[in-house]
Amino acid sequence: MRNGQSRQVLVAGGAGFIGSHLCDALLADGMHVICVDNFHTGRMRNLDHLRREPRFEVIEADVSETLPALPKVARIFNLACPASPPHYQADPVHTMLTSVVGTHQLLSLAETSGARFLLASTSEVYGDPDMHPQPESYTGNVNPIGPRACYDEGKRSAETLSFDFERARSTDIRVARIFNTYGPRMRADDGRVVSNVVCQALSGEPITVYGSGQQTRSFCYVDDLVDGLMRLMACNGKLAGPVNLGNPAEMTIDELVAAVVALTGSRSPVVTRPLPVDDPRRRRPDIARAKELLGWAPKTSLGQGLEATIAWFADEIAVSGTTKRMEPSTASLAVG
Ligand code: NAD
Ligand code: UDP
Repeated sequence: MRNGQSRQVLVAGGAGFIGSHLCDALLADGMHVICVDNFHTGRMRNLDHLRREPRFEVIEADVSETLPALPKVARIFNLACPASPPHYQADPVHTMLTSVVGTHQLLSLAETSGARFLLASTSEVYGDPDMHPQPESYTGNVNPIGPRACYDEGKRSAETLSFDFERARSTDIRVARIFNTYGPRMRADDGRVVSNVVCQALSGEPITVYGSGQQTRSFCYVDDLVDGLMRLMACNGKLAGPVNLGNPAEMTIDELVAAVVALTGSRSPVVTRPLPVDDPRRRRPDIARAKELLGWAPKTSLGQGLEATIAWFADEIAVSGTTKRMEPSTASLAVG
């Protein structure tokens, strides 16, 4: 990259949890970053430390609606979409439109400006997987009409659009399938398991385990994930397919709770809540492709990542005094 314009990067969803860390990493890499966000789940305070940064600007816009005129950029990261089940299920129609219309508009922008486009897709495209661990070749087991479908099918459609733009219009695209990611700047009311359990443990409230606690996830620390996104965007040549980004260290939700309790010394009781409908029973990325193509693998252990996350939430709770959290909607709960 040589001239000024080629250092311009657009980050849709840049005020969110992962997006704000990505903005930091891009600025540290010398880029000029334009963040586009509707502040649905993102927050201006995730970007407060960048207020005086001359290479950073924020444009408030909803990617599912008509976009304002945007500066010409060389790279577009599309992270715009609520990612936590209670948040994306709160307005499922808007979630689907955000993925489909938003991705279409940003792909069109990439096509007309000759920019490289990266979609933040998700391990949810694998649904409740009957292949384990999940390689990129696995086509998934998604319920198309359940309460998670607005997100899962929205992202699957966004992937379809991305690969059709690549095939039919030669648009330069990258698709990252991101597995469960955690770290500082998650919201206390995010509703996902790491933020819930850490906030509950720190405030002495009951720790909520949905279902048996034997379902598994593989948790990736946000710095590792952002490193993977940066490498994927920088990787030249046609990649022919999506790339899983996640930490293969799989654990049960009970094991995650035990790790948080040990690190916080919490005396919170553990309470059981119904398992949400279509909650995947297990999930673990096969990251052979990311290793081979990008030379990428996560470096942060669960202990290190949780310590940083716990320290951040401890400050957050002390400042805001709130531990309010989003719960799954009644419609999304399975019986029993
Ligand atoms: P987040 O909710 O913190 O961030 C999403 C950002 O997108 C927020 O700033 C939000 O305000 C913005 N946004 C939402 N709808 C928008 C719209 N219509 N127009 C403009 N902006 C909009 O979530 P996150 O965890 O940072 O996730 C970021 C991306 O990564 C999402 O696309 C998500 O699907 C994907 N992802 C995240 C995870 C994870 O574990 N965190 C896993 C898989 C995929
Ligand atoms: N979960 C839980 N307690 C909570 C929040 C979530 O036991 O307070 C469970 C949830 O049912 C799922 C797992 O933790 O089995 C991961 O949930 P999360 O919403 O973080 O991510 P996703 O289900 O989208 O992978």
